[in-house]
Amino acid sequence: MLVWLVATLAGVAVTSFAADADLKVVDPGTPDGAPSDAIVLFDGKDLSQWHAEDGGPARWKVENGCAQVNGTGSIFTRQEFGACQLHVEFATPAQVEGNGQDRGNSGVYLQGRYEMQVLDGYHNKTYNDGQIGAFYGNFAPLVNAARKPGEWQAYDIVFHPPKLAADGKTVEPGSFTVLLNGVLVQDHVPVKSSTTAAAFHDIVPKGPLVLQDHGHPVRYRKVWIRPL
Ligand code: MG
Repeated sequence: MLVWLVATLAGVAVTSFAADADLKVVDPGTPDGAPSDAIVLFDGKDLSQWHAEDGGPARWKVENGCAQVNGTGSIFTRQEFGACQLHVEFATPAQVEGNGQDRGNSGVYLQGRYEMQVLDGYHNKTYNDGQIGAFYGNFAPLVNAARKPGEWQAYDIVFHPPKLAADGKTVEPGSFTVLLNGVLVQDHVPVKSSTTAAAFHDIVPKGPLVLQDHGHPVRYRKVWIRPL
């Protein structure tokens, strides 16, 4: 009775205590690690969870705890994913060459379709929806949060893929929410905002994560994902 009275006075329904199931426990790990329920896609050692465009082994150079783009083509995860939380660390070349899109270009493609741009965006002018932090060709980043060339940077991405609604015709657009180096750059933007039928032909529930080979020696290290 006393518990009920105190809880009621505090504005809390007593039944909510009893009804709540235990939350799943996730060990967030060390700052250098990954959460306990994450799928580690690259830990600096090998690219066994990735393949090349031709289906053969991924052939990017792996050394010193990172994988480096080397002109052998984009790499694809063997597993496919739908909604997810994704962490990717990358560094554009310390030695600056080229300008605009021709400088430290790579990319992180969700479902092999939707590119979060990787670019050396440090004092490097280009079109805004192609800048680092852009959902390429769709949404410019809210701000330019690039670190200097050669420094390690991180994307933290929450992705919900577009999908056909229950009526089988209209599309729920899905969303991207993205932090670059801990700074919000995409705030729940739609993945598909067009309503033209042609734009939706390739909506899929799951697809591979792809890291782009744009011909620049961009490096990657920790990559982990939590399917949602
Ligand atoms: Mg790119």
